[in-house]
Amino acid sequence: MTQWQVDTVSAEETQRFGCWLGRMIGAPAVILLNGDLGAGKTCMTQGIARGLGVSENEAVTSPTYTLMNQYAGRLPLYHFDLYRLADRDELEELGLDDYLPGDGVAVVEWAERFPDLCQDGLNIHIGHRGMDRRSIRVHAIGAGGERLLRALQSAWQGQK
Ligand code: ADP
Ligand code: MG
Repeated sequence: MTQWQVDTVSAEETQRFGCWLGRMIGAPAVILLNGDLGAGKTCMTQGIARGLGVSENEAVTSPTYTLMNQYAGRLPLYHFDLYRLADRDELEELGLDDYLPGDGVAVVEWAERFPDLCQDGLNIHIGHRGMDRRSIRVHAIGAGGERLLRALQSAWQGQK
């Protein structure tokens, strides 16, 4: 399994990483986001949205209560938060399966609440490392996830 780690020292830097990731995504994809409350999952999603070309005028906020927010970018962005889902029945009701992948980019906060959610994509874990420091660990899931992760890694090396 391919794994990659990048550390950030501010919310802005996590957003910039997300924005870069969003710019790199050229086809429907699934990004699972895990980590404690306040780790930076929504913060990274805000960056991904910008990278996908979602207008700056459109606020990207946590879908904690709405469960899913949708944004129009270069590819549609579907932002989920599974924190409040009680069980797999509710997951089914939400119809998440149709987006894994669908016609756009699905970003799923608290994906780890439902193991084996998807067979292909990226699993990103954000961990606290002190006040403003976070470690972002990216794992590939499936062959498509591996390809995307390798493309990300080599582009990242190239830009440094
Ligand atoms: P989550 O969605 O994981 O619950 P949020 O993205 O809503 O978390 O909140 C993350 C909080 O942590 C924000 O208040 C943000 O300003 C702060 N923060 C501090 N440092 C970082 C960092 N390096 N990366 C992301 N967020 C950070
Ligand atoms: Mg959140």
